[in-house]
Amino acid sequence: MIIGAGASGLTAAIVLKRRGIDVILLEKNNQVGKKILVTGSGKCNYFNEKFEKEFFTSKNPETLGEMMTDENIEDAKQFLTSIGIVPKIKNGYYYPNSMKAVSIQNSLLTEIKNLNIPIFYNTTVIEMKKEGHFFLKTNQEIIEAEHVIVATGSRAYFDTEEPSLILHSLENMGHTVVPIYPGLVQLEAKGSFFKEWAGIRLDAKISFSNPQIRKDVVGELQLTDYGISGICTLILSNTLVPLLKEKSQTITINFLNSFHISTKEEARRYLENRNQNLPNRSLDQLFDTILDYKLTNLLLKLSDIPLHTRMEDVDAKNLDTFLKNLVSFPLCITGSKSYKNAQICLGGIDIREIDVKTMESKLIKNLYVIGEALDVSGECGGYNLGFAWISGIKAGNGVRSDD
Ligand SMILES: Cc1cc2nc3c(=O)[nH]c(=O)nc-3n(C[C@H](O)[C@H](O)[C@H](O)COP(=O)(O)OP(=O)(O)OC[C@H]3O[C@@H](n4cnc5c(N)ncnc54)[C@H](O)[C@@H]3O)c2cc1C
Repeated sequence: MIIGAGASGLTAAIVLKRRGIDVILLEKNNQVGKKILVTGSGKCNYFNEKFEKEFFTSKNPETLGEMMTDENIEDAKQFLTSIGIVPKIKNGYYYPNSMKAVSIQNSLLTEIKNLNIPIFYNTTVIEMKKEGHFFLKTNQEIIEAEHVIVATGSRAYFDTEEPSLILHSLENMGHTVVPIYPGLVQLEAKGSFFKEWAGIRLDAKISFSNPQIRKDVVGELQLTDYGISGICTLILSNTLVPLLKEKSQTITINFLNSFHISTKEEARRYLENRNQNLPNRSLDQLFDTILDYKLTNLLLKLSDIPLHTRMEDVDAKNLDTFLKNLVSFPLCITGSKSYKNAQICLGGIDIREIDVKTMESKLIKNLYVIGEALDVSGECGGYNLGFAWISGIKAGNGVRSDD
């Protein structure tokens, strides 16, 4: 019995049935893989050439390396090929050649149908217990099962409670649930100037560090009326969101990262050079074509430099602040957007309680947990679906047919 017919559950079902083991999928929706349809903005970035543990966060990351082996990655690629998926690989990011997420959903469903795997649609598992066998209380009936694979994903995006019901049952059965937070999500910040930068998109580096963690992310940054968004924000959110429960956290933004400028001194030299080559220009004019003028004007304002001032006329202290704002702009992050805006959930079943060779629970025999239900969270780039395929294949091969 597999609870959840999403990316990981469908994978496990196909692998099991190909081994000759009968399997049934229980799915609360009236279709399989609904979330797949919204991935990668409808294009589905389903894997990444550079599939390494560095691209994942987990409260207990020690065992992740054991999952991201060359062999497991090869198995995932072979599985995807075996269900007919033809990739288009862009800078290591895998998409279906059709660039349509629906074609990934179709490939999985076609294989499920060809293998005659039954799917009980509109069936929500509300509670699970083990008394010898497993008893799954659904909105329809109580179903008895010898083996159960939990593949219920998370409440991210659709923000429905069903995945949490199963986590709750697993907790009652003795498993640890690492606290759940929205992941790959936009960040809210403190400031009175957001109206002035809202709508600006640029390539930047955003960084966070505390005594335990240092995380730098380079990529597209969107400045919004509540704080920041864009791919690099989403990636940083996986590190930051759990820390926000305690208190606000300050990050820094390097607006000049794409010019390979990372220090105040480098910014000063760059600016002095430009000032020399382009005489008779004010600071804001020197930044024409480098930054969005709205951002330049804001950074000047926050550095107490009047608009249209020339570099040589700027007070030394204010120039210093301006240079700092360019390469290390401090932003106080106070919170994140909600589960509805999140692509994934951080947290889930503690991976230490799972045998990652088979995905079987170390605490409850014949119970398996895969995909996003586990405390394994990937960055943007095909890592979360990648983990769903890999863990689904592991469980599909891990279930023993003899007990
Ligand atoms: C907007 C968005 C964009 C994304 N883009 C990407 C991307 O480009 N690349 C990438 O790698 N990842 C992406 N992801 C993340 C990715 O979709 C998920 O990590 C992945 O689908 C997780 O697979 P899963 O099998 O664990 O869970 P899901 O695919 O979510 O499947 C879980 C299934 O279980 C069912 N279910 C849940 N609870 C119950 C219950 N109690 N009873 C019965 N059924 C239940 C659900 O209805 C669902 O069908 C994105 C996510 C979102 C929201």
